[in-house]
Amino acid sequence: MDSGFDDRRRRILVVDDEFVNRQMLGFILNTEFDVIYADNGIEAIAYLQNNHYAVSLIMLDLVMPEMDGFEFLRIRQKDEKLREIPVIVLTTEKEAELRSLREGATDFIKKPYDMPEVILARAHRIVELSEGRQVIRGTERDKLTGLYTKSYFYQYVTQRERFYPNRIMDVCALNIERFYLVNEVFGRDFGDRVLIEVADILRDFLKSSEGIACRGESDWFFVYFSHQENFEELVHRFQEELYRRIPETSIRIRVGLNTNQDKEIEIARRCDQARIAADTLRNDYTRSVALYDVKLHEDSLLAHRLINEVQQAIYEKQLVVHYQPKFGIQGGKPVLKSAEALVRWTHPELGMISPGVFIPLFEKNGLIQKVDYYVWREAGAQIKAWRDKYGITFPISVNVSRIDMYDPYIEAKLMGILREFELEPADLLLEVTESAYVENATYVVDVVKQLKDLGFQMEMDDFGSGYSSLNMITSLPIDVLKIDMKLIRNIHKDEKSLHLVEAILDIARFMSLSTVAEGVETTEQFELLKKAGCDIIQGWYFSKPVPAREFEKFIEDLLIECKDNKEKGE
Ligand code: C2E
Ligand code: CA
Ligand code: CA
Repeated sequence: MDSGFDDRRRRILVVDDEFVNRQMLGFILNTEFDVIYADNGIEAIAYLQNNHYAVSLIMLDLVMPEMDGFEFLRIRQKDEKLREIPVIVLTTEKEAELRSLREGATDFIKKPYDMPEVILARAHRIVELSEGRQVIRGTERDKLTGLYTKSYFYQYVTQRERFYPNRIMDVCALNIERFYLVNEVFGRDFGDRVLIEVADILRDFLKSSEGIACRGESDWFFVYFSHQENFEELVHRFQEELYRRIPETSIRIRVGLNTNQDKEIEIARRCDQARIAADTLRNDYTRSVALYDVKLHEDSLLAHRLINEVQQAIYEKQLVVHYQPKFGIQGGKPVLKSAEALVRWTHPELGMISPGVFIPLFEKNGLIQKVDYYVWREAGAQIKAWRDKYGITFPISVNVSRIDMYDPYIEAKLMGILREFELEPADLLLEVTESAYVENATYVVDVVKQLKDLGFQMEMDDFGSGYSSLNMITSLPIDVLKIDMKLIRNIHKDEKSLHLVEAILDIARFMSLSTVAEGVETTEQFELLKKAGCDIIQGWYFSKPVPAREFEKFIEDLLIECKDNKEKGE
């Protein structure tokens, strides 16, 4: 079996018009092969049309009525599938041997026939050789689409560039928008069909330009091709063709183009870059082509760097936690209630990096779990430090990424922090962003419920940022609703914004949820929210997030206030 040649009986197609010849060959081959017969070229082609995959070898007579052997060879040469099947030509004269070899025959056997053993041995050898070649080719080709595999593609391009380093060749990455949904909604077979059509259109496009394509992981395709001036137009035509072939639903493609001609950069890298460009088009329905340019290049270098360095940064405490105060506003004077822990990266070379830059990055690869655990622990330690210093327990809310929801140890980690710093669950508020509930609602709701049952205060962050419905909050296991700053931004400028926030506050009150408005910057916003009954306010109106040391002035003010009130007997 090492040679890839198994014990299955192969099928040989004998094409000969003379009954006696057919009988004789059949008699010899029958001992080891399944033999079927055709009278001439036309009959043979008709049979092969539907059975080409089942035939391992063709034995071909040259002189036949209707369609002779040479004509058959010519047709076979033009057909990709038939070309795969080896042909042994049965000849009587030397001249015909040469001609048939030129037409693509694999070997020949002279009439009158040799000893049966010789014929059998030859048939075996040819089948074996051709199957060996197909095994090799099979690893070069993607099974589903017939395009090259990525590794072969890389190898091919690398070799080719050794010979033609100066050709202007671009690389593009093509991806199907929301392919997982296509699979989910229409089934895997339909998904497969989409992939096959995409590959087919790619092959068609490549016929008119120099190039090669491969299929990468799942719905990614990569193409290496001679530079095209009107690339967007080309993609547009590709898209139109795809709509035409699959009219049932509109399958959209997005393409990242890399025109960098620096052949020192490995082809794999160039493909990755094209892919990064394509990724910027996710959910962008206005464009279908993105170019990998300097800005993207810098972004991806930065991303690489941050991902590589975060572990060390945690270890060296380059990640620092800032605290932004939350004030209760429904009494006479605003009262400090708690703080939100917000992480920053003070990078030794790059300076202060905002979480808006690195959090989304770490959410893509799971590193966020390390960062969050670090921040939770820092916050826990801070509560204890302030308790030791001021004698009061001051609750802090921490952000829990949607990725943390899938961490099987999330409860254990949080409980461990409580134990370590002698805290109660209610001392840590957990902010889970609204969008986390949308992806996998039942699962996330279960996790949130378990955390709530353990005694943690659950806060829904960024409410109204566009994913859920008002209806949703009525069924979620949460304690606090935090209204997204986008909704707060215009309440003092436009009535509708204000009414929306008032409606949310009404529902929250009805559900006995406490409410927080974030991103409050102006006195007008503050006044309106107070009037509308919002419980707590967080925003630059009071303070930006500040380092722990700086935050202490808020606690000290609070303590003075309490003391004054006590003295006044309030
Ligand atoms: P978020 O949880 O919605 O945090 C509120 C963001 O609004 C913070 O941005 C805060 O600095 C900012 N902000 C507060 N008040 C105002 C205001 O009045 N006006 C304006 N324009 N902005 C205000 P920041 O610190 O840059 O954090 C951005 C986001 O990064 C956070 O949004 C949160 O989603 C994420 N993040 C921050 N720290 C962590 C963390 O430790 N873990 C996780 N998973 N995410 C974090
Ligand atoms: Ca938050
Ligand atoms: Ca928020």
